[in-house]
Amino acid sequence: MVIAKARAVDGPDKPFRAAEIQRRDLDSHDVLIEIHYAGICHSDIHTAHGEWGPVNYPLVPGHEIAGVVAAVGPEVTKYQIGDRVGVGCMVDSCGACENCQKGEEQYCLKGNIPTYAGVDKYGEPTQGGYSTHIVVTEGFVVRIPDSIPLDAAAPLLCAGITTYSPLKHWNAGPGKKVAVVGMGGLGHMAVKIAHAMEAEVTVLSQSLSKKEDSLEFGAVNHYATKDPATFQQLAGYFDLIINTVSAPIDLNAYLSLLTLDGTLVNVGAPPEPLAVNVFSLIGHRRSFAGSLIGGIRETQEMLNFCAEHNIAPKIEVISADEIDEAYKRVLASDVKYRFVIDISTM
Ligand SMILES: [Zn+2]
Ligand SMILES: [Zn+2]
Repeated sequence: MVIAKARAVDGPDKPFRAAEIQRRDLDSHDVLIEIHYAGICHSDIHTAHGEWGPVNYPLVPGHEIAGVVAAVGPEVTKYQIGDRVGVGCMVDSCGACENCQKGEEQYCLKGNIPTYAGVDKYGEPTQGGYSTHIVVTEGFVVRIPDSIPLDAAAPLLCAGITTYSPLKHWNAGPGKKVAVVGMGGLGHMAVKIAHAMEAEVTVLSQSLSKKEDSLEFGAVNHYATKDPATFQQLAGYFDLIINTVSAPIDLNAYLSLLTLDGTLVNVGAPPEPLAVNVFSLIGHRRSFAGSLIGGIRETQEMLNFCAEHNIAPKIEVISADEIDEAYKRVLASDVKYRFVIDISTM
């Protein structure tokens, strides 16, 4: 058993504190990973604050994990000690259901096992990547291509796959007009990936303050959503809208920007229900959809795609003592564009 150093919270309003957690002995297919970097995802904040339902504290969040293999179980075939690897939002699933068989483990009919705030098959609570080590079964570990630095690789494991999967599913590519709502951690990755897929990308952000960045990341346009003229100007324009905002927005206004058969996909997850007027959909056979991360095979495909197209998130590396401050800044949209914890400071 490995005792990992970690940062944990004890309740919805509590600050992070130093903690020690036990990582299980390696089962035959388990991999022990020495974590080098962990990204801070908005989901970590929702979960730590108890906004997505009851949480068993203490909680160690973190599902954007990048590190190096430190040990392997006796029957591991995919990885060796020293390999550069990542772990995303889930660490296991049933493996047998229809969706798992298709490689869509995130939609496991028995429920995937989340990297933190879940219960593993041994009945133990799962604890995430704000820690020095983690043990994961090899089927839920992905390989990080050599050309992607580990700190920049971390956010790809959630922000990268969460945007890559719907862009791929809804055929973002040449001739497609894609809008990205929100220019945060998810949004900036959506822009980079959709641009690399050769779609025409437009950013819809509250203000024009991030316009230069949008254009640098590959968008052709950036509009302020607080300006009502934006919605008149772009009515019926887009084939696909990726909504990355995890706060309520006026969905009907955004649906009006879709062309015939266009789709608005939610990847952000506000805790509150959202109101959709059916007339926003039926007039132009529009779809209102959602998408959850991506399967393991697709996550590997996304990492390879990012390496091939030289794409990485824009990050700000922080120490373990700065997590509380980073959470405040994420909530204030004051991050360009993802915080990544340097685990060596733990
Ligand atoms: Zn996430
Ligand atoms: Zn399953």
